[in-house]
Amino acid sequence: MAEAAETRGTMEEITALAKRRGFIFQSSEIYGGIGGFYDYGPLGALLKRNVKEAWWRENVTLRDDVVPFDSSIIMHPQVWQGSGHLDAFNDKMVDCKVCKHRFRPDHLRDAAQCPDCGSKNSFTEARNFNLMLRTFIGPMEDTASNAYLRPETAQGIFVNFKNIYQSARRRPPFGVAQIGKAFRNEITPGNFTFRLREFEQAELEYFVPDDGKDLEAFDGWVQARKKWYSDYGIRSERLRFYELKPDERPHYAKAGVDVEYEFPWGWGELESIAHRGTYDLDAHMALSGKDLRYFDEASKTHYTPLLIESSAGMDRTTLTMLIDAYVREKSTDPNGKATERVVLRFHPKIAPLQVAVFSLARNKPDLVERARGIERGLRASLRTQYDEGNIGQLYRRQDEIGTPLCVTVDYETLDDGAVTVRDRDSMTQDRIGCDQLERYVREKL
Ligand code: ATP
Repeated sequence: MAEAAETRGTMEEITALAKRRGFIFQSSEIYGGIGGFYDYGPLGALLKRNVKEAWWRENVTLRDDVVPFDSSIIMHPQVWQGSGHLDAFNDKMVDCKVCKHRFRPDHLRDAAQCPDCGSKNSFTEARNFNLMLRTFIGPMEDTASNAYLRPETAQGIFVNFKNIYQSARRRPPFGVAQIGKAFRNEITPGNFTFRLREFEQAELEYFVPDDGKDLEAFDGWVQARKKWYSDYGIRSERLRFYELKPDERPHYAKAGVDVEYEFPWGWGELESIAHRGTYDLDAHMALSGKDLRYFDEASKTHYTPLLIESSAGMDRTTLTMLIDAYVREKSTDPNGKATERVVLRFHPKIAPLQVAVFSLARNKPDLVERARGIERGLRASLRTQYDEGNIGQLYRRQDEIGTPLCVTVDYETLDDGAVTVRDRDSMTQDRIGCDQLERYVREKL
């Protein structure tokens, strides 16, 4: 390859590819879709799973100071009273009096014109709209049986704080991590899977003693999260860690950082990291009347630990991985011919598939059996796929789904026991003996 010029994909291109290749589908598409809900196709399910596993690995598995948790989606309604969500989890909304559509005023380009029907000065006064999704429990659909789908996963950890530290025998500083579904009745879902009504959060609640080292612990988490995004391949020039000013933080928060990515439509939040003081445990102690303080055996005293929270959206992070990886590349091949391809430059740990194994011909049982055998051998430890047919088309497809390596079994393989391994990014090809293949692939990945 002589030279290559890369351009970023547009959202139209990325959403089209996401559907064509099986990453993301509109939910209930055959019935016209439903706003704010999406389904992950075979490759998207793998991609999102890899994102979640990467988060879990770095924040739970590799740490000795974080324990896992998994709470229920529906909790006692008083949880949402204690947390403040029933009273204050609101967005302002305005209605267009002409087309009756509803908008968030802070999302409007022009505060005086309806983006759907174009009417001028047709908006109602702004009103508060609670974002929690409501359901009923039991046979009666009345207010006494109201329940809410959780709008965040964190509260399950707070109300269980005592159960967790006692059973896991932990003392602050220690953290509790959870990945799970959350629901918000967003007024204006949109930007593909950026703003959803059903989404997954990865939350880490890190409890520290009030010993003057809390801001150090906060910075430690900001650094750990920076390293995570960089280790898993997000381009640093499209990522920023925005430090919230005192008037941008809730009154109880001592520090806050928003992690933001530069999407094709502008900067958007991926994660918020916040020093929340004792606010959450205090609130549940006040309403429930139960003591959630930590009892320190050594000093025989009770205290409420301070909380450092990292809350990241797994769907937004998955979308970011897809957008960040997508590249349209124009290059000249060794014969001087101009070529163009779309390639997803996923980090090998995030890529849905890591190695594709091809048989050069469909109708040659020797080649097919050899290639299938190689793929089966790699499958136990790597994400692999077998395919066959026209090599140009096979490469094109794997580039478009971001598979880092392609292994081809050709006629010579039967004689020399070697295969061709092609690299997604450089498009260079190496001839490798089958007995060396697994080691070679591992080193490359
Ligand atoms: P926004 O300002 O975008 O509405 P938020 O500040 O309300 O987000 P948080 O309550 O801090 O979000 O939630 C933490 C993370 O959860 C966000 O950074 C985001 O990644 C994810 N998240 C929140 N709301 C949604 C949503 N509607 N769809 C997808 N992910 C979401």
